Amino acid sequence: MNDSPRIQVHTGDITKLTVDAIVNAANTSLLGGGGVDGAIHRAAGRELEFECRMLNGCKVGDAKITKGYRLPARHIIHTVGPVWQGGGKGEAELLASCYVSSLELAAANDCSTVAFPAISTGVYRYPKDEATEIAVGTVSTFIEDKTLPGVVIFCCFDELTAELYEQTVAALRKG
Ligand code: ADP
Repeated sequence: MNDSPRIQVHTGDITKLTVDAIVNAANTSLLGGGGVDGAIHRAAGRELEFECRMLNGCKVGDAKITKGYRLPARHIIHTVGPVWQGGGKGEAELLASCYVSSLELAAANDCSTVAFPAISTGVYRYPKDEATEIAVGTVSTFIEDKTLPGVVIFCCFDELTAELYEQTVAALRKG
């Protein structure tokens, strides 16, 4: 954890967090998959898939919201990150758009605490350092002039990723 009240870094399983909304790194079908998506669907229960079926999928860079069902989180915001294809296919803009779309949905649904996984950095192969710069930079800009969400938690699955986030947050503060 760092000392900022508004951006925090946490190491652990996002499905365990008691927040207003957790963000899911979903795929365009929204019907579940591997990685964090699989973990969220398993922890939330089958009702989540039923609600997801009504949403008609989600575009890359976009986001949709559901209830949290059996999770401690009240809502799940499902966003679809870009698959890394070398960086020349608009991946950076699409990844930034995932964070903005998710935060807009969080604000529209009165979610003041939101937790993000490291979107696209698993099977979608986005380079971790570049993805972290985009995550931290985009979230900081968004929350600077908006009241909601009040606290954004970057939930990292391992210590190395958490260290990278801590360093990126610290570098941003130094300006
Ligand atoms: P993507 O398809 O967007 O790359 P993945 O689920 O494969 O999504 O990976 C995204 C990130 O989520 C990876 O950094 C992975 O380590 C992390 N992750 C996997 N399971 C969890 C979990 N239960 N809680 C938090 N982060 C997780």
